[in-house]
Amino acid sequence: MKEDQAAAPAGRCICEDPDAPASGFDKRALGCDETGGRFADVSVERCRACGKLWLHYLVEDEAISRSGRWARGLISEGDATRMTPDRALMHLNSLDWRIVGGSYYAGSGGRRTGPFR
Ligand SMILES: [Zn+2]
Repeated sequence: MKEDQAAAPAGRCICEDPDAPASGFDKRALGCDETGGRFADVSVERCRACGKLWLHYLVEDEAISRSGRWARGLISEGDATRMTPDRALMHLNSLDWRIVGGSYYAGSGGRRTGPFR
């Protein structure tokens, strides 16, 4: 085995990668956020590698191509049990950073600090 295969940045897990596969997470669907006609899929995902909990918010307008985008932000165990779909976006935007991805970003997703819309 080559040395560099294990060289993930210190303290960083695959779950902080916007291209982390869905199979790396245990997903619990919370439902749909219909606020403002967004119809976003909201779920809580636990990373199978490090156990971190993420709040996942997915927006996709099937009528518009390349409109699929999602944001994933850390959430505590307690907040996760109380989280509801309509409060998910508020939680994500209250965090210092979040990870975004989806066809809208065309491979340029990643860590973001600004609000997610
Ligand atoms: Zn992880």
